[in-house]
Amino acid sequence: MTSKIAVVGSGPSGMYAADALLQQGLEVDVFDKLPVPFGLVRYGVAPDHVSIRSVRDTLDQVWDKPGIRFFGNVEVGRDISIEELRSGYEAVILTYGASSDRRLGIEGEDLAGSVAATDFVAWYTGYPDYSGPDFDAQLPKVSSVAVIGVGNVAVDVVRVLSKSEDELAQTDMPRHVLDTLRDAPIRRVVLVGRRGPVQASFTTKELKELGELAEASVEVRGPDLDLDEWSEGQLADNKVASRNVGVLREWIERPARQDAERSIDMRFFSRPVGIDGSDCVERLKLERTRLTSEGRLEGTGEFEDLDVDLVVRSVGYRGEPMPDVPFDSGNNVIPNVDGRVLDGDTALTGVYVAGWIKRGPTGIIGTNKKCAVGTVASVLADREAGLLTPADGSAVVGSLADRGIVPVDVAGWRAIDAKEKEHGAAQGRPRETVSSTAELLAISATAHAT
Ligand code: NAP
Repeated sequence: MTSKIAVVGSGPSGMYAADALLQQGLEVDVFDKLPVPFGLVRYGVAPDHVSIRSVRDTLDQVWDKPGIRFFGNVEVGRDISIEELRSGYEAVILTYGASSDRRLGIEGEDLAGSVAATDFVAWYTGYPDYSGPDFDAQLPKVSSVAVIGVGNVAVDVVRVLSKSEDELAQTDMPRHVLDTLRDAPIRRVVLVGRRGPVQASFTTKELKELGELAEASVEVRGPDLDLDEWSEGQLADNKVASRNVGVLREWIERPARQDAERSIDMRFFSRPVGIDGSDCVERLKLERTRLTSEGRLEGTGEFEDLDVDLVVRSVGYRGEPMPDVPFDSGNNVIPNVDGRVLDGDTALTGVYVAGWIKRGPTGIIGTNKKCAVGTVASVLADREAGLLTPADGSAVVGSLADRGIVPVDVAGWRAIDAKEKEHGAAQGRPRETVSSTAELLAISATAHAT
């Protein structure tokens, strides 16, 4: 019997964990609730960030290695329980990420037109059977948007909303998304940071891209760059913030562009306090803020209304619990030490965690490699110590078959991959993402048609 490890989630952390296990001569079954692999690389990284998205080519090569199988369209916790995985495999590594959004907790947040960036990103990346707000119906009525939060996801959203048709033409977005974005009458996108530019969490490369768009000009308010003592102090130790401030100061000096179709208005020291409108978003209420000498955020009592048709909150992702797995609901992660899942103070034998659900939604894709390799080191140490019981996964495969579940395997994924490239080539694009589960499954089935 060849013992196997189960990896739950085929995003970067899952694929890096699988690869690290294969390199040790172990065999791996990778489960994903979606019919296609690569998680956030496919459904998080902005489609116009072609070089970051090309990480999937590296991840894709892992499927060619001996000893790995894919079980797509299988949801752990619904189609198969964590207990079945625990008894069916020598170890289980959970890498299912952080798929929900954080909320603002302000009045009016549930009005139509107040949306989560996670939904907008799912829509524009073609998440299977996307069921969030109907952007195809909403965007044709939107001329002014506020994006709340100043992290890299917020910058992605602003950029996608501000790019021209030509700038998006080579992406793999579904056709209807490209058409909706092309026709949307957006004229103004306001990026709202509750603290100052020094505290923003976007990175300089991403910030700079906003200043290089074909049809959009960036506006920065001079007084936002008059740094208080606390921020000056932080700047000395933070190279990214220092470079960001340099870029923003350059933009203040730049002459305004007369040819721009759209403006990107960057506002710092503004916190959202309410969203207003009779039956959909009409205004975002902001309070001007400042930092105390200890760096604490406080309101100034000065308020301002922004007339907007859409509010996108981009204030971070949030991890969700999995049935029968311990969860730290304060930090929205699975409690662990070095990737070993903890039940109270005791490690849960044979259950491990890696990626965003281990450490929270931070870091670049590469951060997940180190994180996954660290978890695999714990699995290897526990094997060495004789703490794990070998099992070859056959009981789980049998249970799925008994339940009539036909997973998407590597051959199915290869068929989907080829079809997406074919759809793309017909439009002069590298790929067009297929966004219907039924269609993905039908294409996958062709790999096994006799
Ligand atoms: P993030 O970097 O944590 O940014 C969240 C932003 O939301 C912060 O500016 C935060 O401000 C703000 N915020 C939180 N609560 C708020 C509230 N109640 N009101 C107003 N603002 C609030 O998260 P993210 O942008 O979702 O990104 C997640 C991770 O993915 C990050 O590590 C990011 O770098 C990475 N990512 C990378 C790329 C890339 O490399 N191109 C692209 C996308 C994402 P405070 O700081 O004041 O809390």
